[in-house]
This record gives sequence, structure tokens and C-alpha cells, in this order.
Amino acid sequence: MLALNYRGPYRVRASQKPDPVIEHPNDAIVQVLRSCICGSDLHLYHGLVPDTRVGTTFGHEFVGTVVDIGDSVQNLQRGDRVLVPFNVFCGSCYFCQRELYGNCHNTNPQATAVGGIYGYSHTAGGFDGGQAQFVRVPFADVGPTKIPDDLLLEDALMLTDAFPTGYQAAEMGGIREGDTVVVFGAGPVGIFAAKSAWLLGAGRVIVVDHLEYRLDFVRNFAQCETIDFKSVDDMAIHIKKMTDWLGADVCIDCVGCEAAGSALQRLTGVKLKMQAGSATVLHWAINSVRKGGTVSIVGVYGPTFNAVPIGNAVNKGLTLRMNQASVKRHLPRLMEHIRAGHIEPHKVITHRMPLEEVSDAYHLFSSKLDGCIKPVLIPPG
Ligand code: NAD
Ligand code: ZN
Repeated sequence: MLALNYRGPYRVRASQKPDPVIEHPNDAIVQVLRSCICGSDLHLYHGLVPDTRVGTTFGHEFVGTVVDIGDSVQNLQRGDRVLVPFNVFCGSCYFCQRELYGNCHNTNPQATAVGGIYGYSHTAGGFDGGQAQFVRVPFADVGPTKIPDDLLLEDALMLTDAFPTGYQAAEMGGIREGDTVVVFGAGPVGIFAAKSAWLLGAGRVIVVDHLEYRLDFVRNFAQCETIDFKSVDDMAIHIKKMTDWLGADVCIDCVGCEAAGSALQRLTGVKLKMQAGSATVLHWAINSVRKGGTVSIVGVYGPTFNAVPIGNAVNKGLTLRMNQASVKRHLPRLMEHIRAGHIEPHKVITHRMPLEEVSDAYHLFSSKLDGCIKPVLIPPG
């Protein structure tokens, strides 16, 4: 089959690999119809995720058709069209029983933190991903969700990660009716977090980024206010001025470590040590939220990242919440929002490219060229 083949930092290409096979009676094989590139893939692409092995296939956001199932699979049949949450999870361990699918123990027992994630290095379980023609899906009775006939394929694709992650980011903010919510990052995750903040009752939503085309998009898509951080001297003061000097009720980090680093690098022209990452957004969020407020973090930081400005967080009595999203938990509610016409998730897709052009697609998305918000890869066949 044709699949993304990781060759080293900034080097991915599409090449032939053996087709995946059923390895366990719980497995299914899915023929991929569409897959996305995510901001999280950029951390792999930039070489920031430990134990990313040459030859692996990325891709944790995909939809496709079931073409083979193991002997014990009950809930799926060949021919079913499914969306597959980015978490690989068993459904029965301590964490899955508490709907913490992002922390599943059985799909990544070596790790102390994250569970299994498709196409996300051996740090996240060593599963190959869906930027390919075919992918092996373990625990096939648990993760994959049949795509209802009335759901657009590309809306289903957005339900594999970006929309539920944005939603969970807003949910972890504990938003109360009328709250002022500031979202850092106008990538797909931040865009969905902004929209979700309204769905959860926010009274005011402000999104921060420096890419004008993304700020334009989110103003339209989520009817929010925006801040271009290039034009702000002191973020906390700026946000306090906007909120009668109280600060925001909730701040949400949809940037993470590496993206903050690359943005600053572009701004300052100074080559930053990307591994160390940048705490810019954490500082901004902790300093811009009001006393007793909540900071919710879904932006990804390296496992050893330790630059949290904890002193201010303690003194302000903040609630800090963070996690990998547990996609499956949110699906019924988010499908209802789509059906009710509250949101059209596929609108964040800006580019549709053949899998053969995966190298160009990564370059485009990483460099934020050509108005790119969310690129989709289409495998042959
Ligand atoms: P993206 O790269 O498309 O978007 C990141 C955005 O942040 C960009 O628009 C960039 O300009 C902006 N940015 C950079 N520095 C900033 C700053 N200092 N202040 C405000 N904005 C800044 O990525 P994405 O797909 O939207 O993902 C965003 C983050 O969410 C990534 O870190 C990704 O790894 C993470 N993520 C987490 C989960 C989870 O389950 N926790 C799931 C998906 C993605
Ligand atoms: Zn993702």
C-alpha cells in the first residue's frame, strides 16, 4: 500500500509499505477514505516527540471503510464506514471505565502518562497511523464509530480529533453562563474551542493568534473577538483592560509547546531551542485569567516540559485542567450539534491533496502557507 513514511525531522514521503494484517482477534483493517494532518503531527514532523522511529506512518485523524475483521469482532462488519477516534483504547481498564480514553492503560502500559495514539511514535504505543491506504485498528469493537448516513464524511473526519479536542478544552474550562473565555491559538483546535465555548454558555469569546488569515476565519466561523498578539505589548494587561481589570474567567491553551516556539521564532527571527519549548502561552493564560479562574490546556507539551509559572497559579487560586481529549465520550453530543445546524466542522478544511503529495502537505501546514488551516489527504483507490 501507499503510506506516509517518516524519514527524519522535516522529511516525510509517500512510499510503498506492506499492507497491515489482522494481528489479534479484536483487530479490524480499515481502508482509509480521508485522513488529516493535525497540529500534533507537526510535533512529530519537527522531531520533538521522543522515539519517533524512521519508517513509521503518522496519522491519527482518519475515516474509512472496514475491509477485514478479526474473529472476535462483534460490532463491525466489512463495508461499514467508520470514524476512528485518535485514541487507541481498550474500553475496559481503570481509565477507560472512567471515560479517560486518552489515558488507556492497556494500549500503552509502559507509559506513565499518555495512552495509545495512532501514528504517534513509540512514546504513544507504537501504532501505525492512517496517513495511508490501510490501517490496523485494534480493539475494533470499542473505538471505531459507524458514520451515520446523515453525517458528511468530512464532518465525521473532524470528529476524530479536532472538534472533540476543542470541545473538551472548553468543557474543562468549566464555563459558566456569561463567562469571558480567551482561547490561545486559532488553529483547528482553537477554532473548535471558541465555537464550543459559545455552545457551553460563554458570554464573550476572544481568540488570540498572529496569523491574520486564521483570525479572519475564526471571527466569521465563531463570531468572536480576536487579538493579534503581534500588536500587543503585555498580553495580561491587554486582556485585563478588555475585562474591567478582572481578567478572563477561563483561558484555554490550544497552542502547546512547539507551536509557541515556532511563532516566537518567526516574530523575533531568533532560532529558539525547540526541545526546551516556550512557556509563552502558559504565562499568558495564567497571567490573563482572573483570580479563582480556570486555565484549560490541550496544547501538547513534551513529557519533560517543566516551565509552568506555577507560583502565580498558586497565588491566584487557579484551577488548572488538562488532558489528551477522550474523543469517544463527546461523539453523541457533538453529532447532535452538527445535526441541529449549530456547527459545520468541515468548513475548517482548506486543502484536499492526494496522499502522494504528503510531503508538500506537511510543508504547507507547518509553514502556514496558502491560507492553510486544515489539510486533508486522499489516498488512492
Ligand atoms: P495548529 O498548528 O494548526 O495551530 C496552532 C496555532 O497557534 C497557530 O495558528 C499558531 O499561529 C498559533 N500560535 C502560536 N503561538 C501562539 C501564541 N503565543 N499565542 C497564540 N497563538 C499562537 O495546530 P492545531 O491542530 O490547532 O493544534 C493545536 C495544539 O493542540 C497543538 O499543540 C496540538 O498538538 C494540540 N492537540 C492536542 C490534542 C489533545 O487531545 N490534547 C489533540 C489535538 C491537538
Ligand atoms: Zn490530531
